[in-house]
Amino acid sequence: MPQPSAPDCKQPPGRFEPVINPSKCEAKGPCVPACPYNVLEILPLTAEEKASLGFFPRLKAMAHGNKRANAVRVDACQACGKCVEVCPEKAITLRLRT
Ligand code: SF4
Repeated sequence: MPQPSAPDCKQPPGRFEPVINPSKCEAKGPCVPACPYNVLEILPLTAEEKASLGFFPRLKAMAHGNKRANAVRVDACQACGKCVEVCPEKAITLRLRT
């Protein structure tokens, strides 16, 4: 599958990482194809992730198939911000890794 170009990726790989807010993510998934480096995937919630959600976020997660976006290849992230831009729930932020 052709990948979108990423002219705005100015950080070296792995310096930043996308952080997905599990209370906001609805697993709609536009972040997955938006990422030029295949950092993100939509995956089922683990039992621990489900247990960590409050009552209303848990109901919301059930309504969206108990799935959410996960950063599965954080070492490839170049902080272009495309995932942040396309997320309709504003569930993704970028964090400097330490
Ligand atoms: S900022 Fe988002 S879209 Fe850009 S490389 Fe990192 S995970 Fe992929």
